[in-house]
Parts: sequence; structure tokens; C-alpha cells
Amino acid sequence: MKAAVLNQIPGDLEIEDISVDKPGPNEVLVQVVNAGLCHSDLHFMDAHWKHPLPAVMGHESAGVVQAVGRDVSYVSPGDNVITCLSIFCGSCANCLTGRPNICSNLAAVARRPDEKPRLSKPDGQPVDQFARLGGFAEEMLVHQNGVVAIRPEMPLDRAALIGCGVTTGLGAVFKTARIEPGSTVAVFGAGGIGLSAVQGARIAGAGRIISVDVTDEKLEVARRLGATDTVNGDEVDAVAAIKEMTGGGVDYAFECIGLKSTCEQAWAASKLGGTTVIVGMMPYGEKIEIPGYEVFMMEKRLQGSMMGSNSFRVDMPRFVDMYLDGRLMLDEMISAHITLEQINDGYEQMRRRVGTRTVVDFA
Ligand SMILES: [Zn+2]
Ligand SMILES: [Zn+2]
Repeated sequence: MKAAVLNQIPGDLEIEDISVDKPGPNEVLVQVVNAGLCHSDLHFMDAHWKHPLPAVMGHESAGVVQAVGRDVSYVSPGDNVITCLSIFCGSCANCLTGRPNICSNLAAVARRPDEKPRLSKPDGQPVDQFARLGGFAEEMLVHQNGVVAIRPEMPLDRAALIGCGVTTGLGAVFKTARIEPGSTVAVFGAGGIGLSAVQGARIAGAGRIISVDVTDEKLEVARRLGATDTVNGDEVDAVAAIKEMTGGGVDYAFECIGLKSTCEQAWAASKLGGTTVIVGMMPYGEKIEIPGYEVFMMEKRLQGSMMGSNSFRVDMPRFVDMYLDGRLMLDEMISAHITLEQINDGYEQMRRRVGTRTVVDFA
């Protein structure tokens, strides 16, 4: 099967023919129909993070179950599924206390080193799967705890977005921060995650929703999706603008880019007693600096959010319902459809901050 492989860091993706093993007892083979381009992959291609190589990249996919292992009862061939990188073991302390998104026993959902690899090159060289998924491929062989079945009427290109960016943004608002109706919200970044956080704030009944970005076209999309106000951080001091709009800062600030500077701005834009949620993926080893006295004296809170604190088997079908009943706007978030062969162009557009979400269509 065809897949987009990262062979060196830094490096572009190369379209190669990759062999897929048969499903093991707990594995599911998915025929991929669509895959979204998420910024996280770019961190590895651009050498901000390391990963075992070679690797099939991609982690925001939806498709149809082709085959299942003998111990899989959750899905059957023909089911439509979304994959999620928050693969859970189901038995560690975090999984058992409602936090499967930070499962601490990921070895349980991978093949053992002495087993045949799931993917390999024609010469037998093992190929890693990015985020244990490897979604830029015609087929994905994943642990059954990495898929969720969805309603068949859900279009799979829009379902793919729920696989990472949408769940991360909505979940940061609904599940990590659990914002109150009427509360004020600032969202830094109007890419796939930021636009989803804006929508989460709208759906959860936030009061003022301020979207911050440096691209006017993205801010325009944010307005259509629910932002009540927009701030172009290239043109004005975003923190000062937010403080002025809200009379001192927001109840909740969400950082959805992954930059030190915007993390610190989000913190500064949250009010006395406010909460800052760090959602964006920062370059590995990056540190953020916040004034120590504000932490205790102002009772400000800094909270991390990994993949929207998801329990994705519960959350994603709800997000599908929200799309199908019209509350979650996904059509507006897709700015381009491309083929797998065009994937490097898609990432080049992302580097140049063009478009909101690009989706790969597999024929
Ligand atoms: Zn992602
Ligand atoms: Zn676990």
C-alpha cells in the first residue's frame, strides 16, 4: 500500500510502497478514506521533535474497517471509524480514573519488539507508525483501542478532523477547562485546534470569545465559527487589547499554537483568578516563563491539555452528533482537499500559514 514516509529529520515525506502485516489478536486494519494535515507532524519533519525512523506520518484519519483480529469484538469489517492517538490500555491507574488520554501503559497497545513489525519496507526494514497510527497511508493497522466507531451518515473527510484537531480544541474547553456559560474566553491561534476551541466556547455558552491570530483570513473564519471579537497580534498588542475589551483579562485563555511567546501572552491575558490552558504542541525542550508572584497572589492557574483530555470513544461520537445536528461547523474548517502525492505541498502551505485545514483524499 502507498504511504507517506519520513526517512530523515529534517525532511520531506516520500510516497513509498509499504507492506502491512495481518491484524494481530487485538488489532484492526482500517482502509483510510481521509486524513487531515495536523501541525504536529510538521514538528518532526522540521526537526523540533525526534521520532524513530523511517516512519509513516499522519494521525488524523477516518476510514472503514477492513479486517479485525480474533479478540476484537468492538468493531467489525465495514464499520466506519475514526482513529485517535490517545490509545488506551484500559487497566492502568490513569485509564481507571477517567484519564485514558494520558494512559501510562502504552507498551500494552504496541507490538512487542520481538514480534513482526506492523509495517515494513519491501526489503524487510521495519517502518514505525507516527503516534502508533501512521495515518498518511492507504491502510492503517492499529490496536483496537485506537479506533472509535461512528454513525455511517457522517462524511469521513469531516470525521477525520475529529481524529485530532477538533477533539483537542473542543475537549480543551469542555473537558480540561470545563468553562462556565457566560465566561470570557481568549483563544490564541486560529488553525484547526484554535478554531475548534472557538467553537467549543460557542457551544458551551461562553460570553465574549476573542480569537487571536496573525492572519486576517483565519480571523475571518474564526468569526464565522463563533468568535465575538478578533485580534490581529501582528498589528496590535494582543494582551493589552484583550485586557481592554474585558476590563482586566479573560476567565479562560487557550494557547493553541505551541509557542513560548503566545503561551506567555495567554497567561498575561488571563484575569485575576483566571485559567490558562496550554493546548499547542511546543518544540521539545522549550520552556515558558511566567511571573511567580502571579501564580500564588492572583491565584492564576496554568493547566495543560493533552488531546483535549479525551475519552475519545465517548467524546467523538458526541462531536459527530454535534456536526450532524448543525452545532459543530466542520465544512467551514476544510480549506483544501489534496491527494497523497501532494502532501509536501500541503505542509508547505501550512508553513506559510495558508488555509485552515487540508484533507488528503484517498482514491
Ligand atoms: Zn494532531
Ligand atoms: Zn492505561
